[in-house]
Amino acid sequence: MSEKTYSQQTSLIHSHSYDSHTGAVSTPLYHATTFHQSDFDEFGSYDYSRSGNPTREVLEDTIAELEGGVKGFAFSSGMAAISTSFLMLSQGDHVLISEEVYGGTYRLITEVLNRFGIKYSFVDMRDLHEVARSIRSNTKLIYIETPSNPLLNITDIEGIVKLAKANDCLTFLDNTFMTPLLQKPLSLGVDVVLHSATKFLAGHSDVLAGLAVTGNEKIAQRLSFLQNSFGAVLGPQDSWLLLRGLKTLHVRLKQSSESAYKIARFLETRDEVEEVYYPGLSYHKGHEIHVRQANGPGAVLSFRLKSEEDVRKLTKQVDIPVFAVSLGAIESILSYPAKMSHASMPKKERERRGITDGLLRLSVGLENADELIHDLDQGLNSLKEEPIKKVINL
Ligand SMILES: *Cc1c(COP(=O)(O)O)cnc(C)c1O
Repeated sequence: MSEKTYSQQTSLIHSHSYDSHTGAVSTPLYHATTFHQSDFDEFGSYDYSRSGNPTREVLEDTIAELEGGVKGFAFSSGMAAISTSFLMLSQGDHVLISEEVYGGTYRLITEVLNRFGIKYSFVDMRDLHEVARSIRSNTKLIYIETPSNPLLNITDIEGIVKLAKANDCLTFLDNTFMTPLLQKPLSLGVDVVLHSATKFLAGHSDVLAGLAVTGNEKIAQRLSFLQNSFGAVLGPQDSWLLLRGLKTLHVRLKQSSESAYKIARFLETRDEVEEVYYPGLSYHKGHEIHVRQANGPGAVLSFRLKSEEDVRKLTKQVDIPVFAVSLGAIESILSYPAKMSHASMPKKERERRGITDGLLRLSVGLENADELIHDLDQGLNSLKEEPIKKVINL
């Protein structure tokens, strides 16, 4: 492809469309772990696959381009990307974290990094005053997730970045729910963007992967050193699968987001549904901020039924979505945060965050939207059914 600038839709297909050596239109898969040196003084572009692998590098260049960064890094999971990036911190440093952070990140901070003397406070990132008040002299990092999981709460990215810069803090942002097609945190001043590429980027529920991208050369050097030191790199086969998934990201996300909007509009009309959480709804809290900083609402929504009993009935009745953890796949995935992603959180804490026993999360896939709606419709109808009265024969 020439040097012209194209839309992301076109670049996704063509930016690494052929191999310069052979013209192959699919990135060659280099399984080699070590690379021949012609002389002990002569280093080639690659020496050992942990430090650099040609297949992984194509993926790392692709994500860097998509996020508008200078360098991308591929890891063996989203958690590996997040954990490695946290290693930029040192003993005694303090982190401010979004209260609604992904469960695995919560565990890393509270049960692993704390043992290495890294301090933390959880804050409601929607409240910039609370964030400002919580910054300490040793705060080195503010960690953002927006929209958050599972209530799709919105954080004002630029607002947080401003506070961080004024206090010499780094900002990390987990962009898993949006992908670079919908939200470009580096352009808003964020230092490191993180992804569970397991979700939308790979998109087919068949690769576990993580990515980190930065727009800052110095941070890139530090991350590169940490990626090689910690060693949780993505293998070439998974890098290849992820590259393949990325080619269809635009069309997948467009379709899923359109269906998610239709489904959200359908759910809000139903009496059995107490609340619908979706950044695409004009009354969603933070909708205006979201519209300002992102290009679309994405494909994940949550809705609240009245009780655990209703959840049980609905999940028994619906036919199309798989009932599972995870999101961002070609198949719609229905999950129950109270018993799945947030099961380890004490009930009181969970409910304080709005994750009640009636809350369901739906990640909308590529099935026919009308069929998905019909499926949910008959599921919701089943909640209304009166228990069958005993027929008494007189
Ligand atoms: C799944 C997920 C992660 C963790 O990624 P893995 O690939 O499962 O390690 C991190 N953040 C968010 C928002 C996620 O949804």
